[in-house]
Amino acid sequence: MTVAVALFTQDLRLHDNPVLHAAHRAADQVVPLFVLDPDVAAVGFAAPNRQAFLADCLADLDASLRRIGSRLVLRRGDPAEEAARVATEAGAGSVHVAAGVSAFAGRREARLRALLGGRLSVHDAVLTVLPPGQVTPAGRGHYAVFTPYHRAWKQAPRRSVHGAPRRLVTPDGIGGAALPTARPHSPALPPGGETAARAQWRRWDVDSYADLHDDLAADGTSRLSPYLHFGCLSAGELAARAIAHGGAGAEAFVRQLAWRDFHHQLLAARPAVARHDYRTREGAWHRDEREADAWREGRTGYPIVDAGMRQLEHEGWMHNRARLLTASFLTKTLHHDWREGAAHFLRLLVDGDLANNQLNWQWVAGTGTDTRPNRVLNPLRQADRYDPDGAYVRRWVPELAHLPGPSIHRPWLLAPGYPAPLVPPEELSARLRTARALG
Ligand SMILES: Cc1cc2nc3c(=O)[nH]c(=O)nc-3n(C[C@H](O)[C@H](O)[C@H](O)COP(=O)(O)OP(=O)(O)OC[C@H]3O[C@@H](n4cnc5c(N)ncnc54)[C@H](O)[C@@H]3O)c2cc1C
Repeated sequence: MTVAVALFTQDLRLHDNPVLHAAHRAADQVVPLFVLDPDVAAVGFAAPNRQAFLADCLADLDASLRRIGSRLVLRRGDPAEEAARVATEAGAGSVHVAAGVSAFAGRREARLRALLGGRLSVHDAVLTVLPPGQVTPAGRGHYAVFTPYHRAWKQAPRRSVHGAPRRLVTPDGIGGAALPTARPHSPALPPGGETAARAQWRRWDVDSYADLHDDLAADGTSRLSPYLHFGCLSAGELAARAIAHGGAGAEAFVRQLAWRDFHHQLLAARPAVARHDYRTREGAWHRDEREADAWREGRTGYPIVDAGMRQLEHEGWMHNRARLLTASFLTKTLHHDWREGAAHFLRLLVDGDLANNQLNWQWVAGTGTDTRPNRVLNPLRQADRYDPDGAYVRRWVPELAHLPGPSIHRPWLLAPGYPAPLVPPEELSARLRTARALG
């Protein structure tokens, strides 16, 4: 009887999982293993919303594995040490794991290799459609601009999509801890797990995406981001299905998956950009705790910004257009350090992801890959364009719900009790222009 260990990380699914697929092909029996790593909590990455979502994911994975004759073995501790221990206990000839992109994942892989040597198999294109480094510009290790990356990405060969295993045999006698439970911070968190993910994918209408993705009130985006972050869905399978479906909506959706890959290849090439500017634009950011608190708590005086921040607090998720304009407000209008905003997002986002969060923040702040680093999103113009009737603001800022139509975006004219704008409308780009000497 041969045995293989499938070490799950951010790939908490049975469908299209190259790690599980390879372990299944390598041996008669498979130990599906997940290790809860206290270091993830120690570096502040285990926010309550993501802990609660993860608990759902693990329970769902265990239930799905049981349906095909197996079960999830859960351990606590250092993933490399626990994987090596389980491999010894089970007499496993191979241990399979997904290649990650962060410095943290890199250290985990190095420790696994040190302990397991040639028994370790690291699998590409598990977390992203293309593995970082599969497409590179001539003479450089990674793409710094999205458009040429996207062109190359579309042409690149893909691995084939795997089905879920129909039956999996797991050896007896491999002990594990009880599945975790956790309470979320946000009251309206989506349910975690592959089953919920696939249901959401089936429910969502990709055809309307091209028209609705920027409409704040329509809420027409897929809401798949937490499932992609925890790997309840495979980005490769989603891309393949959307391409097969065809049409403008599917094309626009696949482009977003390419953005996700783009940020992952950037973090893989330059892990330090999780904390440091990709391109430094200037010296000092403005510091003001009172302003930062008002931004975090949704009291900036600009209802469209406040609505986004309150959605984040309530759902642990925010619409992409709202992420863009709230991040622009903090980094361009208030001219605060992007790290301050990125940290707040990571505390709450159920899809909080080092590659996507930090690099989107840098993109908005103008320290990242935006080719127009000094653009400022004017919150009033954004509100008029993407929430023309004020329905999104009315949903999240109920104290202004009585204001008719778009007048809700300018409460200083009609609702004297609402916080006054932190920065007057005519000075929305003044701090950035001074700091970057833009005249
Ligand atoms: C300041 C800021 C912070 C962000 N932080 C995160 C984060 O921590 N985690 C995260 O997953 N996304 C982040 N995003 C990207 C984007 O806002 C979310 O992925 C998206 O809103 C999730 O909703 P959805 O699943 O309905 O997206 P859809 O519009 O349906 O897009 C489908 C998928 O494509 C990917 N995607 C979409 N937009 C982007 C993008 N701009 N960059 C990278 N991938 C993208 C996501 O995986 C998403 O689930 C951030 C964007 C900004 C501007």
